[in-house]
Amino acid sequence: MGIDAGFDMVPPLSTGVVDRRNWGQFIDFIKEHYKADTQVEIKPNYINFNAGEHPKLPFEGHKFLRFSSKVSGRIAITSGVEHYINTIRGLAQVHFGSRIRYWNEGADQYGVYDWNKVRESIRSYEQPDDSEMPTTIAQFLNGTDPLKELKIPLFEIKDIPGKGKGLVARLNISSGTLLLCEKPLLRIQSKPREELEPLLVTKLKAMSRASQRQFLALHNNFPGKYPFSGIVKTNALPCGSGSHVGGVYPTVCFINHSCIPNAHNSWNRSEEHETIHAIRPIKIGEEITISYDHGGQSSARQEFLKESFGFICTCSGCTLPPSSLRASDNRRTQIQILDEAIGDPFRMMTSPYESLWDCYSLLRILEQEFDSHPGALVARLYYDAFQICIAHKDQARASIFAERAYKVRVTCEGEDSPDTMRMKSLAFSPADHSSFGVYSNKWKTTRESLPKGLDTVQFNKWLFRQES
Ligand SMILES: [Zn+2]
Repeated sequence: MGIDAGFDMVPPLSTGVVDRRNWGQFIDFIKEHYKADTQVEIKPNYINFNAGEHPKLPFEGHKFLRFSSKVSGRIAITSGVEHYINTIRGLAQVHFGSRIRYWNEGADQYGVYDWNKVRESIRSYEQPDDSEMPTTIAQFLNGTDPLKELKIPLFEIKDIPGKGKGLVARLNISSGTLLLCEKPLLRIQSKPREELEPLLVTKLKAMSRASQRQFLALHNNFPGKYPFSGIVKTNALPCGSGSHVGGVYPTVCFINHSCIPNAHNSWNRSEEHETIHAIRPIKIGEEITISYDHGGQSSARQEFLKESFGFICTCSGCTLPPSSLRASDNRRTQIQILDEAIGDPFRMMTSPYESLWDCYSLLRILEQEFDSHPGALVARLYYDAFQICIAHKDQARASIFAERAYKVRVTCEGEDSPDTMRMKSLAFSPADHSSFGVYSNKWKTTRESLPKGLDTVQFNKWLFRQES
């Protein structure tokens, strides 16, 4: 007898790449969170909490149905099991949202799954499903991606009507998949074409025949007096946001632009390569696209793309019917206004509530404009929200924002991108940020002071300080 409480995962996780990765991140977060806690034991295939009835979290997320224990009785109370349940439930909600169903028999609430099924699932934690599976979550997160292991090219280079060549998916691809990782054929500082041309001639002469052929196979939207600089101008991608150094790549440069892209390109400055990740599910036969533009209304984007890359954009975002295009242009204007307001340090100092509200509004607009897959723009937004909170010493919210930024960065740039790693470390130690408490102490919290018993909507209201 006694009162049971806990939470169920509804529906259970699948064995698919996204669910496995999310669960892996969640397990890593739990391990780090409890690394100094002697009641928490890392077993070969699961984490065991030596409290109450010893609830467990398996490393294979698809086996997980329930985390619970008796919470009444002396042993349960002295071991603090209810505290573990509440904390882990809060963290699980951050990762899995409404899939986490809390219940407490003391309040006449009961779990979704039958106890026999739950006990059977817990027994299965001991034995990994498949010896081929990566043995640790770290291995999994470090790139043992089953799609990569299959060694089936995820795309093919094809002629695309009106666009020259482009990359087309050969399989259904899930969000967060690494599509391509490539070193540049050459890197070069941006310069006027007449200065660039002789430099390129020298660089090309030093390249292997194969690399020369790859370079010359690239499209040139600016034929004429300076053919090599034309190829660079058409194809080069900046090595990092705002960089004046551009990289030219044998395959990446075939990826066409869309103002509503399904993939994200990122320069990994420590590995010195460019990565392309799917930022939304991509269907077999669909063209893989990235964004070359700097945002703004469709007319501004068109002008920029024509001037910089020599083409007229006919993407789904630019060819909307007039009323939808007007709505999109309005959203793009709002995005620019909010982005500027959020980046204003004076406002961040004097009106942090308003700044955080702007972050929330921007999040909603980005989701609308980019069809729920805004990619790296959201990582930047979460990092802005992090900075607002940490400058006023709110470590609890800052940590959640850094963790959200981290998750988006993993999808867009992979686990090994320096920015991803930085977000991960800030999620664990937000106070290490150089802005910690620079504006005030007025929002002071510890990293652990997370609210309990909130559903996703309530949690987000708390997070963005929208409780009235
Ligand atoms: Zn467009």
